[in-house]
Amino acid sequence: MSYATLFVISAPSGTGKSTLIKSVLATLSGRLDVPHFSVSHTTRAPRTGEVDGREYHFVSRESFIDMRAREGFLEWAEVHGNLYGTAAQEVEPRLQAGRDVLLDIDTQGAAQVTARRPDAVTIFIYPPSREILERRLRERGTESEETVQRRLANARRELHDSRNYQYAIINDDLERATDELRSIFLSWGVLRRRRLPKVEGIIASFSIAPSVPGGH
Ligand code: ADP
Ligand code: 5GP
Repeated sequence: MSYATLFVISAPSGTGKSTLIKSVLATLSGRLDVPHFSVSHTTRAPRTGEVDGREYHFVSRESFIDMRAREGFLEWAEVHGNLYGTAAQEVEPRLQAGRDVLLDIDTQGAAQVTARRPDAVTIFIYPPSREILERRLRERGTESEETVQRRLANARRELHDSRNYQYAIINDDLERATDELRSIFLSWGVLRRRRLPKVEGIIASFSIAPSVPGGH
C-alpha cells in the first residue's frame, strides 16, 4: 500500500501561486520526498517564457476534447474561457509508486479531485487584499485589460470556494508564505507511517519484536 500524498493548491489568478510553488520546489530540490509537480493540459496560449511540457502541455481545443472523451483526465474545468485538465497518467502511476504529487488547479477541479480522493491535502493561497491582487495581475504584464477583469471577477467565486480547503496561506510576504507552504510538505513527509520500514529497522536493531495489538 502506498502512503503517497496528493496535494491540491488553488488561488485566485495573480495571487503568486506559481511563484510560491517554484520557490518551494526549488528549496526542496534533491530531497527524496519533493512532490512531483503535475503538468496540466490547457487550451490557453503560452505566455512569453512558458515552455510546452514545463508549465503546461499546450494543446488545441480539439485534442483536449478528444482526450476528455477518452476519460484521460482526473479532473478538468473551464477557467477564464480556456479548458484546463489534469491527465490521470500524470498522477496515478506516481502515487502508486509512492511519490507525492502536487496539483496547481482551480477550485472547480479541486472539488472533483476531493470527491474522488477525500484524503487529498488541500491548500488555498490568499492575496492580502483585492487591491494587491489587481496590482499583481497588472504588474505581471501578461494579461490584456479584458482578461484582468475576467480574472478579478472569477476571484470572488474562488474565494467563496476557499472555505472548503484545509490550509490557508496568505501571500503577503513571499519568504514567509514560502516557509509556510514548505512546512506543510515537510510535515506530511515525517508522518510515522511514511518512514516505514526505516523506523522498524532502527527498532529491530535493538532486538525488539514488532508489537502485537493489545500486548506490552
Ligand atoms: P499566479 O500563479 O497565482 O497567477 P504569479 O506567481 O504569476 O501568480 O504572480 C503574480 C505576480 O505577483 C508576479 O508578477 C509575481 O512576481 C508577483 N508576486 C508573487 N508573490 C508576491 C509577493 N509575495 N509579493 C509581491 N509580489 C508577488
Ligand atoms: P493560468 O492561466 O493563470 O496559468 O491558470 C489559470 C487557472 O487555471 C489557475 O487557477 C490554475 O490553478 C488553473 N489550472 C491550471 N491547471 C489546471 C488544471 O489542470 N485543472 C484545473 N481545474 N485548473 C487548472
